[in-house]
Amino acid sequence: MASPFSGALQLTDLDDFIAPSQDCIKPMKVDKRSGSGVAKIHIEDDGSYFQVSQRGPWGTGFSCFQDGGMKKLEKAKISLDDCLACSGCVTSAETVLITQQSHEELRKVLGANKTAAPDQQKLVVISVSPQSRASLAVRFQLNPTDTARKLTAFFKKIGAHYVFDTAFSRNFSLLESQREFVQRFRGQADPKQALPVLTSACPGWICYAEKTHGSTVLPHISTARSPQQVMGSLVKDFFAQQQVTGTQGEPRCGAPPHCPPSALRRCLTATPCTQRLTPDKVYHATVMPCYDKKLEASRPDFFSQEHQTRDVDCVITTGEVFKLLEEEGVSLSELEPAPLDSLCSSASAQEPTSHRGGGSGGYLEHVFRHAAQELFGIHVTEVTYRPLRNKDLQEVILERDGQVLLHFAAAYGFRNIQNLVQKLKRGRCPYHFVEVMACPAGCLNGGGQLKVPDMPGKELLQQVERLYGLVRTEAPEDAPGVQELYEHWLQGAGSERAGRLLHTSYRAVEKAGSGLSIRW
Ligand code: SF4
Repeated sequence: MASPFSGALQLTDLDDFIAPSQDCIKPMKVDKRSGSGVAKIHIEDDGSYFQVSQRGPWGTGFSCFQDGGMKKLEKAKISLDDCLACSGCVTSAETVLITQQSHEELRKVLGANKTAAPDQQKLVVISVSPQSRASLAVRFQLNPTDTARKLTAFFKKIGAHYVFDTAFSRNFSLLESQREFVQRFRGQADPKQALPVLTSACPGWICYAEKTHGSTVLPHISTARSPQQVMGSLVKDFFAQQQVTGTQGEPRCGAPPHCPPSALRRCLTATPCTQRLTPDKVYHATVMPCYDKKLEASRPDFFSQEHQTRDVDCVITTGEVFKLLEEEGVSLSELEPAPLDSLCSSASAQEPTSHRGGGSGGYLEHVFRHAAQELFGIHVTEVTYRPLRNKDLQEVILERDGQVLLHFAAAYGFRNIQNLVQKLKRGRCPYHFVEVMACPAGCLNGGGQLKVPDMPGKELLQQVERLYGLVRTEAPEDAPGVQELYEHWLQGAGSERAGRLLHTSYRAVEKAGSGLSIRW
């Protein structure tokens, strides 16, 4: 079976793949009987093992079977001890993480909520990526706004309490990326403030860099969290802890113990409630265009030791949403649309919004415009991309009087990433900023996106790009609610709190002797 991960992640040569890289040390159980002769192990197509007897090398028939006789062998059970002794672990760390994050897991939580005691119920929040929404829009032949509203209706129908859009959290990723770039550009003399800045929103690329290039490349990677992980901070920190006041009969927050999620529609407390939800009482699932995002959500930096919970508890792909719809017997097109939710009152969401630039988030374009203005006082109206070797490698240049002021690039797909890394290692990378994405054509073409029967891949991608591009764009600094959250939630841009909740760090992963010792 083809791996669902991005190309960059698959192409690392480490031994912690989703597919076993070596035979397990203990694939079957062999009965050692005295007098047994020489035997070979034969593996059938269905994975069953057979012992095939052979004549012993010294010419006498020691085998208790006839020559060529076959005996089916029992499969062995693999214990943790076995795994610890093995460098090609079958139940690799990633396999475990993937099974923890699936649409079945989301179903389990939603199912448990229906029967749990009120104080045991979780507030379920789903955050949908704009790339997944575009893919579903094409599959169901809907426009992006209807898709967003119908998806909200669907998730609420199956038990979610809130449905958000990660385009909102992307505002923060973009703003933090621009801030970091300007700082690094101004501090070029400091070797720690390394240029070029390489984007960090793609976990396929981050995993590859950490495993394969370590300290050469990691200082160049932006520390800004991806939209998924900023949404994790927003949901588990800001949203969960909002103080609420309630009067009888009005819809309220769901803060336990007085107001469990089941009472969301009708608050039963007559007195104002000032309780806060702790992060572990919120179950946060995201809908993403790739499997690599499941690994990103599982990184230790995004786990709260204090509350024993992750910022994002479960990541499901666009394809898994489709499976959920099928399992529920629901067609998205036929659902009645529901109003969109927003994370804070000042960010009322009538329709989804997006950002200028490509389908992978618009990092290059946003940082370019901002840096041109901030560093050189030049207002850029139109960003012109110049294709280089292939369509997944493009550059954008800001010039004045023939002098190059800013040199940005977008490098998508493993081939271009590898070339970029080689240039970086040789000290010949001409760029100040590179938007790096593991998937050829970027996130709209992610490994978790939907296929459409009878539609060739190229045409499908064009349609997804077209629908993605129909969404109204806004500058992240102008997006309603963003400045308010910087001020009240983060205590100002550049604050210690903003650093902790909107940034992350990377570490080189040593080639591990045991699959279990790999840290994500
Ligand atoms: S390019 Fe986008 S879809 Fe592909 S692995 Fe990276 S984040 Fe996922």
